[in-house]
Amino acid sequence: MVIKQASLLEPVTHGSAQLNNQTFNHYFLNSTKESLDNYANAMGRAQDALVHQFSNNKKPYSGLSHEEFTGLFNETFEEILPDDESSMDTVLENIGKTILRHSIVVSNPTCLAHLHCPPLSSALAAEVMISGTNQSMDSWDQSASATVLEEKMVDWLSDLFFQRKRADGVFTSGGTQSNFMGLLLARDRYLKRTFNWNAQRNGLPIEANKLRILCSKDAHFTVRQSAFLLGLGEKAVIPVETDSHHRMCVDSLDRCLKEVRNQGLHPFALVATAGTTDFGSVDPLAEIATRAYQHQIWFHVDAAYGGALMLSESHKHQLTGINLADSISVDFHKLFYQPISCGAFLVKDKSNFDFIKLHADYLNPEDDEDTGIPNLVTKSIQTTRRFDALKLFVSFQALGKKTFADMIDYTIKLAQDTAIMIEKDSDFELMNHPEINAVVFRYRAESKEKINDTEELNRLNRLIRNKLLKQGHTVLARTRVNNSVYLKLTLLNPSTTVEDIQSILSQIKHLVETEQRI
Ligand SMILES: *Cc1c(COP(=O)(O)O)cnc(C)c1O
Repeated sequence: MVIKQASLLEPVTHGSAQLNNQTFNHYFLNSTKESLDNYANAMGRAQDALVHQFSNNKKPYSGLSHEEFTGLFNETFEEILPDDESSMDTVLENIGKTILRHSIVVSNPTCLAHLHCPPLSSALAAEVMISGTNQSMDSWDQSASATVLEEKMVDWLSDLFFQRKRADGVFTSGGTQSNFMGLLLARDRYLKRTFNWNAQRNGLPIEANKLRILCSKDAHFTVRQSAFLLGLGEKAVIPVETDSHHRMCVDSLDRCLKEVRNQGLHPFALVATAGTTDFGSVDPLAEIATRAYQHQIWFHVDAAYGGALMLSESHKHQLTGINLADSISVDFHKLFYQPISCGAFLVKDKSNFDFIKLHADYLNPEDDEDTGIPNLVTKSIQTTRRFDALKLFVSFQALGKKTFADMIDYTIKLAQDTAIMIEKDSDFELMNHPEINAVVFRYRAESKEKINDTEELNRLNRLIRNKLLKQGHTVLARTRVNNSVYLKLTLLNPSTTVEDIQSILSQIKHLVETEQRI
């Protein structure tokens, strides 16, 4: 048997494909003709699949159960990573029939469950550019123009929220990350000031056991999550009582602060919420700020939901005092109508970012600082990071401030009208008068004595929510208040009308009647 020796002069072959740079061109977006043609086709097919999905499906959800969908998926896609290629036409057509067809349609006027917004088309166009250019925000040499635009957006946001030049910030994946960053800086500044302790180098001192965070009992769960991620344990979070509007009660706060001090504990952060997740309640920011100042505690405002009120001349007064915060979380994938994910973390005094600054020789060497070249990794706990600032900028440029304000004002008015409608209807019980645009209520027909005990009401309201989802005409949320099950309408979508709400309430009544006949 003669074994043929591979000649160094012949190209190496693998199967029939020659291994040279041209083999892979059409898989990427670059300057070659095959690349550009292929990109245009792939994008066109993706757009076709979306247009098909949105033009043919009028319900917010198809109604398929988890089990039914799993079956459909397994039937359509035999293997996750098949051995051979398929055309993009085939792949995207299959995705359209399965994944897109059975997605939640967030832009549907009766999809009202969560703080989950319909995305603006202007931002969707920007997303194509964000992913197409694939800039990474960690260092200037991976993003150039993108770094400048993000810094411009951060300056604008700093001015909007703090009206102050020394403020700074960074785009984040959302409220979870922003709240974590606020509490991280708060902890490390406190340790530095109080114990002259460098947490970045030394970890936690023994006194860490006594560190405390105060927030209302309606604050977002990520405050507790941050506490345990920061090594303080959930026990570090002291929940302050709320008033009948679910806002932090300042008297209770004063009592808590006194108790904590008397016990020799160290409160280091005070978290106020501007827009609680269930009720959209806004804590009394200015009064809380005074306490934070008196006690020399970091004041963080979680404005993930309510931050957008700053755009509305009629509603920004609800956030009076937010400029007194040391740090603010704001989400753009909620009331700024951006596709997920998009948020920002803002600090009043930029020098506080020093607590998380690290230097990597390959990313942000110390000598770059002398040249004034910004490497945004110094302000972030993410390294590789998306250029999400672009989509917000494109939406701002395209829609202008007035349209944003009008959309926010409209949804708040819709929520107020909805609350009045529910309050007047004896089949329902209203839980809150909305401060932003979330309405919590439950079905409760006083006249039908059969359904007046708590367990029966809980069962019925759970059933309403599940059946509506199964029918696919309405997606609403369910929550617990005082141990009872309630329904929630989050009226984020400016396309939703009073008629849509009326129709949902009728559906609920109809559903209960049908249920009771069985
Ligand atoms: C949504 C929300 C969060 C969490 O933000 P993500 O963007 O989901 O990470 C935190 N706090 C409040 C008040 C929120 O509404």
